[in-house]
Amino acid sequence: MIPYGRQEITQHDVDAVVEVLQSDFLTQGPKVPLFEQTVANHVGVRFGVAVNSATSALHIACAALGLTEGDWLWTSPITFVASANCGLYCGAQIDFVDIDPATYNLCPLALERKLKQAEGEGRLPKVVVAVHLCGQSCDMEAIHRLAQRYQFHIIEDASHAIGGKYQSEFVGCGRYSDITVFSFHPVKIVTTGEGGMAVTNDPELAASMELLRSHGITRDPERMTHPPDGPWYYQQVNLGFNYRMTELQAALGVSQMARLDDFVARRHELAQRYERLLADLPITLPCQNPDTYSGFHLYVIRLRLKELNNSHRQVFESLRDQGIGVNLHYIPVHTQPYYAAMGFSPEDFPEAMRYYNEAIGLPMFHGLTIEQQDTVVGALKQALAQ
Ligand SMILES: *Cc1c(COP(=O)(O)O)cnc(C)c1O
Repeated sequence: MIPYGRQEITQHDVDAVVEVLQSDFLTQGPKVPLFEQTVANHVGVRFGVAVNSATSALHIACAALGLTEGDWLWTSPITFVASANCGLYCGAQIDFVDIDPATYNLCPLALERKLKQAEGEGRLPKVVVAVHLCGQSCDMEAIHRLAQRYQFHIIEDASHAIGGKYQSEFVGCGRYSDITVFSFHPVKIVTTGEGGMAVTNDPELAASMELLRSHGITRDPERMTHPPDGPWYYQQVNLGFNYRMTELQAALGVSQMARLDDFVARRHELAQRYERLLADLPITLPCQNPDTYSGFHLYVIRLRLKELNNSHRQVFESLRDQGIGVNLHYIPVHTQPYYAAMGFSPEDFPEAMRYYNEAIGLPMFHGLTIEQQDTVVGALKQALAQ
């Protein structure tokens, strides 16, 4: 089976992890701050807070922004469930904004319509999570303009987009958002096994997320609400979690980050090759907004079903039967039973449903060989021709 995604591990990565195993610190040592600095420097932002997953990063980002009971969080229905669940962890309610039919990202026009309506009903969102699907940035300038008008915070869920750019700046630089979150799960562009990071330019948000990642405990007298009892003293000042990243993970992350440009360049090569080889098929290829340089975490095609005899499901099954590990990112979150029980119905977000009925994610990862890519293309032609 050719998988849809796979990590790329070198001897240098292995050595970096082994070195930590032989060192004094497996957690809470020097590698985590080094990884935070490495990511922050690369994307051009002031602070990084490394945690054990992007899900945790989304949670502490929402909490640091003060999201709580009675608040609303809005996001795209075409995302991993974590982009919405983070709001529920904070006691907020969730709503969705339909996707742009060309980029499949949260649609700024749909957002504006929904904000106008919500304003009248007194239920404006406190946080909007903008998900950079497949690695292509959302139209952040438009979303940011709306944030100023309607006073909401923006979290960029850049789990797919590290190394990608928007208006010539790296995703994560924070020009149009409060906090950006990256994922380092093994299928993503850079991996630490499990892991995530929240980056921000705001020192208060960074300090707040650092507390939340580790039980709400501080050893910094400046952050304490009461004077310390003595040199042994630490103080819990709010309710945090244990979301810490280990030193092993951080060392792997530092080693991987050195190859980030190469990772993204290779994904672009593969994307361009797909574009050439798939040009004449009855499918819609990914559309790139000229303001963006995608991270290309995923390569999603859409079937033009009217031109095909086969159904979406049949094409998908045929590819799997031929050993191609295609996937469908994502099942619209509002149709998940857990969310449907809150009152959403599929037709609430028609563009998301159209996408769901046509999308297929083809293999896309650094180590995908030209021969494997040709096999994928051959299998797809076969699956479409039936
Ligand atoms: C992978 C992913 C997450 C969650 O990342 P973890 O590191 O596995 O917690 C969140 N949002 C999106 C869009 C993702 O793809």
